[in-house]
Amino acid sequence: MNNLKRKQLSDLEAPERRVQLRSIDGLGERAGLAAVEVAELRKTYPGGVEAVKGISFAVAPGEVFGLLGPNGAGKSTTIGMLTTTVVPTSGTARLAGYDVAEQPLLARGVSSVVFQDSVVDGPLSGRANLELHARLWGVPAVHAGHRITELVDAVGLTELIGRPVSSYSGGQRRRLEIARALVSSPRVLFLDEPTVGLDPRIRHELLDVIAGLRAREEMTIVLTTHYLDEAQRLCDRVAIIHEGTIVALDSPGALLAGLGREILEFRVSGSPEAALSALRDRGAAGDDAFAVGARVTVPLHGHAARDALAAIEAERLRASELATRVPTLDDVYLHLTGERIAHAG
Ligand code: ADP
Repeated sequence: MNNLKRKQLSDLEAPERRVQLRSIDGLGERAGLAAVEVAELRKTYPGGVEAVKGISFAVAPGEVFGLLGPNGAGKSTTIGMLTTTVVPTSGTARLAGYDVAEQPLLARGVSSVVFQDSVVDGPLSGRANLELHARLWGVPAVHAGHRITELVDAVGLTELIGRPVSSYSGGQRRRLEIARALVSSPRVLFLDEPTVGLDPRIRHELLDVIAGLRAREEMTIVLTTHYLDEAQRLCDRVAIIHEGTIVALDSPGALLAGLGREILEFRVSGSPEAALSALRDRGAAGDDAFAVGARVTVPLHGHAARDALAAIEAERLRASELATRVPTLDDVYLHLTGERIAHAG
């Protein structure tokens, strides 16, 4: 949709709901119409699977927001509801003020989505795919040519754009899909697991492309991922999703800061719970130390690792594989849920 059309639509329809974002951690003084506003959103599939259990969050214009969680957490269902392909069971979701259930066409008009499955046409060239999409979206030809050239450059496909898409690699195809989604100049771009299925080098290249886009386009991005490095690298804030519920929502830095700068990890051959309480009694572990299976994790919070090691020895704990390291979002997730996110990046 071109800017003029969008403006006309927003003049006619925008409910001008000014939402206060000050209460949202990490947004400071930024206030205005939320790009995405989700309240008590819920999806129970036929058969009774409660995929999303009443989640709420708001995303500010220009923000990159991540939904992070393992497979089955409810991320795709959430994106499906926000992009009007999945009907919510209850609750509301608005894109730039438009309610996805009540005003689906307007909500779709201000957003674009890149799903995991490819939607580009193999026999056509990359450029023909983009031109076709521009026509479908009513982008005037005079603007479309310039816009396409700019986007193709931004995603690094200038040299390939005349070739049939069937000759593209997986990573090149994903870049084309992102360019295609941007042809309509969306206010909100949804990326569902943008790098899944790509090999590590190509993944990193694509992350560079996405990071570069956010600098060029004034756009809000909502992405789902189960890769921790992806969330950490790209996102201003991350909602950690576990079994359909948001268990934490903050900037990656703030989430990590909760566990301090360094953690001590070890395996114990006796009872991990007994080991934890012994270390707590000696003041060598705090309330946020936790055990999953035989593995004990102790955030050090500025204490020397040797004090914890001395306590382990004094308690005669049968500990092995002792190591200190900086915490990752996987530790945050593990701490909150007792489970690991698969494929930790
Ligand atoms: P994620 O994207 O985090 O992997 P999903 O949103 O795909 O999670 O799935 C959340 C839960 O909903 C899972 O238990 C999944 O099996 C279930 N689910 C997803 N789609 C459907 C569907 N169409 N019908 C029934 N259950 C579904």
